[in-house]
Amino acid sequence: MTYDPNNIFAKILRGEIPCNKVYEDDFALSFHDINPQAPIHVLVIPRGPYVSMTDFSAKASSEEITGFFRAVDKVITKLNLDKDGYRILANTGLHGGQEVPHLHFHIFAGKQLGRMLI
Ligand code: AMP
Repeated sequence: MTYDPNNIFAKILRGEIPCNKVYEDDFALSFHDINPQAPIHVLVIPRGPYVSMTDFSAKASSEEITGFFRAVDKVITKLNLDKDGYRILANTGLHGGQEVPHLHFHIFAGKQLGRMLI
């Protein structure tokens, strides 16, 4: 899949569309999901133009990869999610149900989330 620079998360990264920001640094941006599926539902996205984990792993620098994963944990720490726990999910491609073609991690928390898949 080629990266579409007009996807909604690219527009958020460029500041063309607002978001409810949780955290940002040189490598990542985190914001609340517009349609939350749990009491806490945030997204973390790398700043670079990557569609998926495979794309990210193949093309991003080691610094970007490290920075992104550290940013995910900064969000977890900032929202104090480590104590009661959380779930991270990355929908990918057709079978994964990915709607936005920019790599993103969902972080769900705030209640017992039940079984892994419905
Ligand atoms: P996915 O199916 O993993 O691609 O999920 C995309 C997610 O992006 C969904 O949970 C949407 O609710 C969320 N989303 C779409 N547009 C926005 C937006 N403008 N701000 C925040 N979240 C959004």
